[in-house]
Amino acid sequence: MFDVTMEKIVSLAKRRGFIFPGSEIYGGLAGTFDYGPLGVALKNNIKNLWWRMFVDGRDDMYGVDAAILMNPKAWEASGHVSGFSDPLVECAKCKKRFRADHVGDVCPECGGAFGPVRQFNMMFKTQVGPIDDEGAVTYLRPETAGGIFVNFKNIVDTMRPKLPFGIGQIGKAFRNEIAPRDFVFRSREFEQMEIEYFVRPESWETAFEEWRVQAHAFMDAAGIDKEKVHELEVAKEDLAHYSKRTIDFEFDFPFGRKELYGLAYRTDFDLSAHAAASGQSLTIPDEEGQPPVTPHVIEPSFGVDRTVLAVLASAYREDELGGEPRTYLAFPKAVAPVKAAVFPLLKNKPELVVKAREVYAMLKKDTPQIMWDDNGNIGKRYRRQDEIGTPYCITVDFDTLGENGADLKDTVTVRDRDTGEQQRVQIGELAALLK
Ligand code: ATP
Repeated sequence: MFDVTMEKIVSLAKRRGFIFPGSEIYGGLAGTFDYGPLGVALKNNIKNLWWRMFVDGRDDMYGVDAAILMNPKAWEASGHVSGFSDPLVECAKCKKRFRADHVGDVCPECGGAFGPVRQFNMMFKTQVGPIDDEGAVTYLRPETAGGIFVNFKNIVDTMRPKLPFGIGQIGKAFRNEIAPRDFVFRSREFEQMEIEYFVRPESWETAFEEWRVQAHAFMDAAGIDKEKVHELEVAKEDLAHYSKRTIDFEFDFPFGRKELYGLAYRTDFDLSAHAAASGQSLTIPDEEGQPPVTPHVIEPSFGVDRTVLAVLASAYREDELGGEPRTYLAFPKAVAPVKAAVFPLLKNKPELVVKAREVYAMLKKDTPQIMWDDNGNIGKRYRRQDEIGTPYCITVDFDTLGENGADLKDTVTVRDRDTGEQQRVQIGELAALLK
């Protein structure tokens, strides 16, 4: 057996171009990360999977892409200006600051005593326009949900949906976390995939259950290890005042069992608060002759970066193949950043290279996430592709050219990442294999 440690994941992510520390050449910026070529491909695949499953794939869902900067009144109405805070303590001796609920009674760095706990608002303040006064202050959104609620009326007016229906959004969110840590698990700039699903008040339980099941279906499709996922029913006394029920989906990360996603029943808290503060009616027409309704809402909230981390931790494998130890990522095809790598057996044989280039170009038309590799020997190429989780390696050799009999002409060797097994496949059948 092998251990999946954070050290191994962070080092592989850096070494192979998935995730780098933010602004690295300047010594980094705490709580920020930059996704490299493979990381952005993995992240896009995760977001596309989610969007296909929950927006494009359904006829009761609508997508939006709202501005990150919003009128600050929206954050006052939602309660973020007054209440989006974490408890902060400062060590009287070394002056380091911590999240009070993450530490004990004394400073973990120097053993000093803590001062009083105070609430620290996690929204990043910024200024809109050229005049630097209080009226110009707004915030970088701390969650994407706000942009959904303020567009409720626009969606109702333009798309004429009927209850139940939902609005989904993927985008950046910013939180000035007191103590960013655990790699991309807790950063200050991250991405969310959120849904507000609007229902008649009496049918919230059905919708809640449906989204609970859907959340698991997404985790499955993304390759998140079921065994490591646990539902935590948030205790009644810990629920936000407007929530009647919340489930956290927790994952056994290498640093412990922590929240991956949330699912909350938020009643009509948000729509009613925005209606009151904006003076606009945020209702939806009901049956003929009935007054309009203010729907209640179920909110499934997915963090993109925590998904990336859970997918990496679920896919990480070490084994022995052909008597050699190897590391590989057992990504499902849908999220693998590279779907297949194409090689000429030898890079100094032009006829092999030309044929391999042809195969590469043909596959890339339909499946853009294809990689060309002609560096080093085949064994080294296999190991490199295994380490980035490429499901198939395709080699063009002399058989492909028909040098060893007409029956092998236009076939290639396809090697499977997980088993290391190789089979001969007709070039014409490759596209279907990669789907
Ligand atoms: P935590 O208790 O871990 O701080 P939270 O309960 O504040 O999380 P939510 O407000 O429910 O988180 O945010 C919804 C989702 O957004 C989370 O389930 C998580 O996937 C993601 N998320 C929240 N904060 C961060 C962060 N600082 N870095 C990365 N992802 C985050």
